[in-house]
Amino acid sequence: MTASSASEPTASQGQISYKDTLNLLQTPFNMRANAKVREPEIQAFWSEQRLYERLSQGNTGESFTLHDGPPYANGALHVGHALNKILKDIINKTALLQGKRARFIPGWDCHGLPIELKVLQGLKSSERAELTPLALRRKAHAYALEQVEGQKSGFRRWGIWADWDQPYLTLQKNYEAAQIGVFGAMVLAGHIYRGLKPVHWSPSSRTALAEAELEYPDGHTSPSVFVAFPAVELPAALAEQLSAAGLAPEAATAAGGLAVAIWTTTPWTLPANLAVSVNERLDYAVCAVSTGAESQHDNSQAPAVTHLLVAAELRETLEDSLGLSLTPLLSVKGAALEGILYRHPLLERTSAVVIGGDYITTEAGTGLVHTAPGHGVDDFNTGRKYKLPVLCPVDEAGNLTAEAGRFAGTNVLKDANPTIIRALEESGLLLKQERYEHRYPYDWRTKKPTIFRATEQWFASVEGFRRAALDAIAAVEWLPASGRNRIEAMVSERGDWCISRQRTWGVPIPVFYHRSSGEVLLNEASLQHIQNLIAEHGADVWWERDEADLLPEPYASDAGQWRKGTDTMDVWFDSGSSWAGVLGGITGEQSRAPELHYPADLYLEGSDQHRGWFQSSLLTSVAVNGHAPYKRVLTHGFTLDEKGRKMSKSLGNVVDPAVLVEGGKNQKQEPPYGADVLRLWVSSVDYSADVPLGPGIVKQLADVYRKVRNPARYLLGNLHDFNPSEHAVDYSALPLLDRWMLQRTAALIDSVSADFDRFEFYRFFQALQNFCVVDLSNVYLDIAKDRLYVSAADAQRRRSCQTVLALVVERLAGLIAPVLCHMAEDIWQNLPYAVDETSVFERGWPTAPQQWHDPALEQPMGHILALRALGNRQLESCRSQGQLGASLEAQVHLTLDAEAHNTGEALAWLAGSAHPDVDNLADWLLVSALHTHRSAPSQPLAETSENGITVSIAKADGHKCERCWHYESDIGQHSSHPTLCGRCVTVLS
Ligand SMILES: [Zn+2]
Repeated sequence: MTASSASEPTASQGQISYKDTLNLLQTPFNMRANAKVREPEIQAFWSEQRLYERLSQGNTGESFTLHDGPPYANGALHVGHALNKILKDIINKTALLQGKRARFIPGWDCHGLPIELKVLQGLKSSERAELTPLALRRKAHAYALEQVEGQKSGFRRWGIWADWDQPYLTLQKNYEAAQIGVFGAMVLAGHIYRGLKPVHWSPSSRTALAEAELEYPDGHTSPSVFVAFPAVELPAALAEQLSAAGLAPEAATAAGGLAVAIWTTTPWTLPANLAVSVNERLDYAVCAVSTGAESQHDNSQAPAVTHLLVAAELRETLEDSLGLSLTPLLSVKGAALEGILYRHPLLERTSAVVIGGDYITTEAGTGLVHTAPGHGVDDFNTGRKYKLPVLCPVDEAGNLTAEAGRFAGTNVLKDANPTIIRALEESGLLLKQERYEHRYPYDWRTKKPTIFRATEQWFASVEGFRRAALDAIAAVEWLPASGRNRIEAMVSERGDWCISRQRTWGVPIPVFYHRSSGEVLLNEASLQHIQNLIAEHGADVWWERDEADLLPEPYASDAGQWRKGTDTMDVWFDSGSSWAGVLGGITGEQSRAPELHYPADLYLEGSDQHRGWFQSSLLTSVAVNGHAPYKRVLTHGFTLDEKGRKMSKSLGNVVDPAVLVEGGKNQKQEPPYGADVLRLWVSSVDYSADVPLGPGIVKQLADVYRKVRNPARYLLGNLHDFNPSEHAVDYSALPLLDRWMLQRTAALIDSVSADFDRFEFYRFFQALQNFCVVDLSNVYLDIAKDRLYVSAADAQRRRSCQTVLALVVERLAGLIAPVLCHMAEDIWQNLPYAVDETSVFERGWPTAPQQWHDPALEQPMGHILALRALGNRQLESCRSQGQLGASLEAQVHLTLDAEAHNTGEALAWLAGSAHPDVDNLADWLLVSALHTHRSAPSQPLAETSENGITVSIAKADGHKCERCWHYESDIGQHSSHPTLCGRCVTVLS
């Protein structure tokens, strides 16, 4: 039986009502949360009290900086936002309760393509055509602010505490200026350069993309081709070896002689081919080609060459896949191939075989790699060694340019591949074509394939500070520890960071180019000047003013010579500068609040941010200051449905946090559970992995919520006439049962404190339930009913119980406050006696006096509670068979043999209590009498033996007292109250 269902006794009808003589429950604290009304009331109370402001600024403990990773200012809040922000709030509220100055400045990421696209989509095509960059920026600015307000009200409704009136937005002037400061410091430290380099390019968005903006959908296939590149000249040493092997060099280099075989999955890059690369350490074979008679392939057309050069290890595989027989003539190391000249298969051009690197393997292809320095990172690096030009005959829309000769005008995502493959076929140099499935990067916004394309971009040279970044990673505490390996691998392997974007809605790269020489102007004076202008006017100034009004002297007087750049910064550079823009981690910048410090104590985001914000923040901070912007990084997984699937509209499995909190259209089907149930969910999950949420889980959580709320109400309801300063009983005068309850409470405080220190809130969730359901409801409050209701209001056995109830309810409110903040405050506001603190949050983190930790109670109480459980099972079986109504109709006979000597000792310990009116087993079993010495009844209602303990149940002797429902033999002896027992008569007199 739980406290909630604890019977609230009523006198039977038709007689004197003794109900009014009982001490019944009285409290305005509702059984039902009524969250839709009550939670906003409580939040209004916090605002009026300026509680967050007072605690975060006025606490006397150390400052604690959990720095908010800014969500993107676009779209409605989803459960991923809830998981993230509520975790942060639980940590902050715990810190505030611990007396720390936990100031939390919420942030929003406001620039970037998605908002730019939203604005453009909202315009008619005629409006779009007339839109100036500045007008676009102003619309994007307004749109972002509107989105921020929408998300903000959602966060506030969840009970999140923060500086909501002073958030940081990446579009704020002072933020943008600090970001320019970070960029400038990196420029001056030599970490920023401009270069023509292949970058991930999205033809569909017409911009460069960062790694974090790519995704790799399943099932991408590319048209792959094997192509023969005819040799036209051989290095002398190789020519001699071939000659000795029987192939005359003249025959090899004649039309239709020897060719190098390459394989590519991007045929559209072939017009940009400037070399074929080999691995100098691999073995290569010159093979005589014949159409294998055994060939099952449809390659009916014999190749137009007599000999092919392939990696020796791949020869057999290629025989099979090309449907040719390849007879090895000569085997040489890759190093010997350097300097072979070949004719481009499609264009009038001759290029050379060069030495690549270990990226050339025999895992697939031919072991000879088609090399286009404008379209691949390895190709670019190899090309640089050989001083090859960075040829990139593809424009920003993905169309081949005039440099691609007859293929100009075809599009790399559309007709370029089939056109080029057809041309290869016609040339006779196509050895094979097939579809090839592989991982391929797509634009995360447009869901279209990206390409590698060399463009003039601005880069942060990660190479320049990689070692320092890795050292910084090692100095940070990563939770879970696997996070360190993740980010370490990413930072060790990553290339330079392309930070420029060809978009309008962002922070400008504050650079000027000389109109005739192309020289770049980017020095301390120009950077400082632009930073000052942006601090005063915002980044719009870059578009509002012309060069004369943007340049400092002496350049301003010569402004006609200079052209301002049009690139904006990667949004990851925006958010990655927040340690400077918010925490003041750069010279000349102040933090947003005196309580904030840099490096922050904690960053807490989804595990995908190892690639995103954790990394961009780390790189900028290391580049400028040589260390990470955080001391600890905590990550969480993603939200899935109850079956472990991603939430999506098409699956219909999306849990909308707004509906969970406020209810849906039909409030019967989708009731308003309130923010506390959403918060309880966050505390319940092991967020180190992906976490599930669905309607079934929400129902279970609502149950758990009630398992906490109901006993809380019971505690409050029994304190209506209790004033601690007047009635509290000293610990030394408490019965054993009460001391045990305090011991359990102390143990809960210890375990929950440790769980919160380790951010393991799901352990708190389990411990809380166990405490409320088992220790509190099933044991303590179940037994306490008689003490609380039936005893005289001022009886010692009632006051001592109330003392415990008050001590427990105050601590329970404190322990749940970080998670169930509204319920905790509701409990506090309904304490029926005066306390010093206006809010539960002012009380501080719960503690237990040392004397509550009494290990001597544990063993005997363990035996007695086991015995009680055994007795309760027997009583329950009698009740379910209709042999008993209430358990008070029963008496229990107990026999212990030698095997149960521990239980016997525990009972002797209990019998030795100085408070037999509380510490007696009959009351604990809720029966009218308990016998240990009398012989057992001859015909018990039920009897069982376990571990040397025999429990027999019989009907109680005597008659039922009208008031306390106990069966007693002294009923009828008192003429004024003929239906009451002696104990009740005494209470009434
Ligand atoms: Zn009675």
